[in-house]
Amino acid sequence: VQSAVRILVTGAAGQIGYALVPMIAKGAMLGPDQPVILHMLDIKPAAEALKGVKMELIDAAFPLLKGMPLNLQDCLTMGRFLTSYGCIIAGVVATTDVAEACKDVNIAVMVGGFPRTEGMERKDVMSKNVSIYKAQASALEQHAAPNCKVLVVANPANSNALILKEFAPSIPEKNITCLTRLDHNRALGQISERLNVHVGDVKNVIIWGNHSSTQYPDVNHATVMTSAGEKPVSELVHDDQWQLHLLNSEFVATVQQRGAAIIKARKLSSALSAASSACDHIRDWVLGTPQGSWVSMGVYSDGSYGIQPGIIYSFPVTCQKGEWSIVQGLKIDEFSREKMDATAKELIEEKSLAYSCLKG
Ligand code: NDP
Repeated sequence: VQSAVRILVTGAAGQIGYALVPMIAKGAMLGPDQPVILHMLDIKPAAEALKGVKMELIDAAFPLLKGMPLNLQDCLTMGRFLTSYGCIIAGVVATTDVAEACKDVNIAVMVGGFPRTEGMERKDVMSKNVSIYKAQASALEQHAAPNCKVLVVANPANSNALILKEFAPSIPEKNITCLTRLDHNRALGQISERLNVHVGDVKNVIIWGNHSSTQYPDVNHATVMTSAGEKPVSELVHDDQWQLHLLNSEFVATVQQRGAAIIKARKLSSALSAASSACDHIRDWVLGTPQGSWVSMGVYSDGSYGIQPGIIYSFPVTCQKGEWSIVQGLKIDEFSREKMDATAKELIEEKSLAYSCLKG
């Protein structure tokens, strides 16, 4: 029997958190046989809502959380409920105490963050969030398990991850990442819809750069598995009304603005797809990417593709044995170069804004 993995979800009572925790408990993140101990953190004003999420997890009777006690009492002040089950320890911690939430976690999914509300300047959102990420970095630094893997979802995701890296120096920089997998999956979804092919047959799109509207969704290397073998997307679109030039305009804009389109339709931001892509990100990182496929992850730049080191930038990566590596040697045309540099420029500006916010 495998021992349990402790997974922290911050902002667990929020929209994405509410969609994410049952997915984790059902095995979408680490597989159907891996027991997990969910550490759910939220802020004090969300304590009652967090308690409700825990009640629903109990009611759903997820087998991977089978150590969870039925006696709720005051789960928020009591904090932790762990039950030994053979050599499995599985359960739920629901708390508003950041130190307790971070204790011994192996994986941290950082969803909690201050939302951008009407009238707020970019600098104000940045300022709120960098302070949150500085404090949470210190808690992870002190309390998380060695080699804890971190995924930052909350916006501005790349810059929050960078701040977390700076203030949690004992966590290896390779372990701190941010989510661009939703954008990656959106690109796969658009190709599947447009070419009327199964989404599972499409692979190797790339999201370069920032998880913002400057991101560059790149299909130059994407392929589709057809009955005649693997074909580049660029070859297939010639046979479709969706002409090649659209890949460089309409497709890019559709993926970049998909989040806004969902807010318009749902009157709420995307949550289900964000949660699902967070599971995809961690699953591929921990269990590996399939042979011949890559995924997009926001990682600390090592200078690959001429991207300045010192920023968290989304690259194509393959994963093996719990480690990601940037895919090397892809041919970059002039159009792509320009887009990749523009999103890098935005991240460099965000970095200096984040540091100026920290200085006060
Ligand atoms: P959501 O669960 O909808 O979103 C959480 C974060 O994920 C936001 O920063 C959001 O950015 C970001 N995000 C990143 N990618 C996406 C995406 N593709 N689609 C949607 N969101 C994305 O927000 P809620 O307000 O429902 O929940 C936030 C939780 O965080 C609450 O439970 C709240 O109590 C908690 N919180 C924690 C704080 C702390 O830890 N100190 C401070 C404030 C809140 P964006 O805002 O740009 O959509």
